[in-house]
Amino acid sequence: MNADQFRKYGHELVDWMASYLKNIENFSVKSEVSPGQIIAQLPELPPEKAEDFGEIMDDFEKIIVPGIMHWQHPGFHAYFTANNSYPSILAEMLTAALSAQCMSWQTSPSATELEERVMQWLAQMIGLPDFFTGVIQDTASTSTLVSVLTARELATDYRINAHGFDGKECFKIYCSVEAHSSIERAVKIAGFGSENLHKIEVNNVFAMSIDSLEQAIVQDLTAGMKPLMVIAAIGTTGSTAADPLEEIGKICKKYNIWLHVDAAWAGTALLLPEMRYLIKGIENVDSLVFNPHKWMFTNFDCSAYFVKNKSALIRTFEILPEYLKTNEIEKINNYRDWGIQLGRRFRALKLWFVIRSFGIEGLREKIRNHISWAKIFAEWVEKDERFELMAPTNLAVVCFRLKLSDLAYIEDANRKNAELLEKINHSGKVFLSHTKLDGKYTLRFVVGQTNTEFRHIQNAWQIILESALQMIWLV
Ligand SMILES: *Cc1c(COP(=O)(O)O)cnc(C)c1O
Repeated sequence: MNADQFRKYGHELVDWMASYLKNIENFSVKSEVSPGQIIAQLPELPPEKAEDFGEIMDDFEKIIVPGIMHWQHPGFHAYFTANNSYPSILAEMLTAALSAQCMSWQTSPSATELEERVMQWLAQMIGLPDFFTGVIQDTASTSTLVSVLTARELATDYRINAHGFDGKECFKIYCSVEAHSSIERAVKIAGFGSENLHKIEVNNVFAMSIDSLEQAIVQDLTAGMKPLMVIAAIGTTGSTAADPLEEIGKICKKYNIWLHVDAAWAGTALLLPEMRYLIKGIENVDSLVFNPHKWMFTNFDCSAYFVKNKSALIRTFEILPEYLKTNEIEKINNYRDWGIQLGRRFRALKLWFVIRSFGIEGLREKIRNHISWAKIFAEWVEKDERFELMAPTNLAVVCFRLKLSDLAYIEDANRKNAELLEKINHSGKVFLSHTKLDGKYTLRFVVGQTNTEFRHIQNAWQIILESALQMIWLV
């Protein structure tokens, strides 16, 4: 491809993207292909000869698009959202054009200094105290792993980095049973062993039980173990429960334990001053992660990691071979030493574009709407005696299901609700996912897609009611 062709196809692609996003409601949210259907259409051998771009694009539309889940569809109410927005897409195009490798200040001063500035903005925007320093990681999984490793090294005076585990100490890490699976993975990767992740029970609103946490810590101490770290969730993936940060912080302080907060999805809600009660006690927190790539209109990947002890972070990861040495070492950030990977994408650019294009006001308005629409949806559920709410609607996720109290067995009610979910999703107009709370199959209705309007919420409720009517008929 030459420059002229790039210009021509580039314009065509922007047109394609604009039409796709404008007409996205014509697609079924969930792809209807069966396993193997896509790969069967892809030649087993790579092409020997150059192919025409037009042909590649044709195949993209014919083969690839049918196997795509349309995450930007306003009827997307599943998992957690993974939003984009026009400014974010445009910045991503520029990032690809620059294709700068942003491992150190020298390899692109703008990338480093913009990242420093937008992370300061973001910290202010979500109400973090100014002793936090931010850095962009790829995902919350990575951010949490970075936190676990930093806690490990700080607690051992950087000994494990140098000598490995000596088997003399047994470290314990704590999170609730509702915490995200990425925590167990981080504990495994960091060498602690998943057996040493202590999953604390939750209370009736699925938040970590403080008494159980302290009990576990005391028991472990008595048994000669070393409590290292607590990971609190603000917005669990199941039901968006928030662990009681203030009390957890006090316990961590008392026993000198590192406190990490996983607010991967819910962190965006902290843009609203009225939601900051969720991080009351933040002064005792050592690190926090939230993902602008979930709810803050910044396309994947972009995870914001904030840490109190910046030098512990850097000391954990720093490596300085001769070929990476520069003269500016004192004055600037070299983000290659702030995480796991050496090479880094220029992710700050899309965050900058998004924050400036929406403005804090614009971002807040959207998030406020999502939260208030979820509350309205929850009221509809509550008023309809055929349904029941399964957890408090703290933020913008409604956990509900068909109330089938006449079904003697929990498994029967679970099965019926799974069938209901399938019926709803079969409509193609909306897509919801599920979780289990207290062993009960629960439908999750997430409000947070960039393009969702109130009419989509109304429409979704109609589809749910129609699907439920068919179900109740069958009971
Ligand atoms: C989504 C999510 C994660 C994982 O996020 P990634 O960025 O995909 O790694 C972790 N914790 C919580 C609470 C989440 O909702």
